[in-house]
Amino acid sequence: MTQIQTGLVLSADAAATSPIIIAEQVYKSFGSNQVLAGINFEVAAGEVAVVIGPSGSGKSTFLRCLNALETIDSGRIRVSGSDVGYDYRDDKFYEWSSKDYAKFRLGIGMVFQRFNLFNNMNALENVACGPIKVKGMPKKEAKERAQALLEMVGLGTHGHKFPNQLSGGQQQRVAIARSLAMDPSVMLFDEPTSGLDPELVDEVLEVMKTLALGGMTMVVVTHEIGFAREVGDSLTFVDGGVVVEKGDPRTVIANPQSPRTQQFLSKVL
Ligand code: ADP
Ligand code: MG
Repeated sequence: MTQIQTGLVLSADAAATSPIIIAEQVYKSFGSNQVLAGINFEVAAGEVAVVIGPSGSGKSTFLRCLNALETIDSGRIRVSGSDVGYDYRDDKFYEWSSKDYAKFRLGIGMVFQRFNLFNNMNALENVACGPIKVKGMPKKEAKERAQALLEMVGLGTHGHKFPNQLSGGQQQRVAIARSLAMDPSVMLFDEPTSGLDPELVDEVLEVMKTLALGGMTMVVVTHEIGFAREVGDSLTFVDGGVVVEKGDPRTVIANPQSPRTQQFLSKVL
């Protein structure tokens, strides 16, 4: 039922809007180690793009390039129609200042394998602090919004608890709420359930599914093939720093075209 709804929303959106994220021929090396070797990748508004691939294939590096935590060596990354790193205004070329980068990153939420909550703040304060400190939102308003976000991730009665009083799954849900508090237009997830005990994985995936159904644009690096099949609008297999295969998740999973994709899927399925 939910899949059909997502599909309908997406096709309407996708027809009306150009991709929110476009990566073209992105190259990135660390010293002599070429990690990204010409990645091409697009994400449409409202799309849930799931990315899979072997360890070391460049998935995390690519996500970090998408939100400009890493600079790229060549190629281009365009977000919402403008190139990351520079602007043309009044026919003039402007290289981004550190302030421009900071502003850009505010529009992109990122959730990591490790939750990285502030241990000296309770859950509510973790969620409220970004809008207060970075956006100058009045405390009362920020806390009300934080409470609503905690309710959205199923933790409405846990706001007073500190990270060490929460399970890994609960901490990750707080981390998602904290990202959402900044009103991002895109959410990037880097193996958000890999650090969790197996019984805590589903509660985090459920929150991500709710977000997806709400129309959030998401790039999700994960080994959870079930999530890709059920929630993903596209599935991209990355190996050796390039996109080997991309398509409808159900099609790619059932009928992978590349031998490398076949081999990888046979190990994780
Ligand atoms: P994945 O997320 O697919 O497992 P990564 O993007 O984390 O892959 O890593 C790809 C390669 O890039 C690895 O060989 C890793 O050692 C290297 N790498 C990643 N980040 C850095 C860094 N900051 N400095 C040097 N090498 C890095
Ligand atoms: Mg990684």
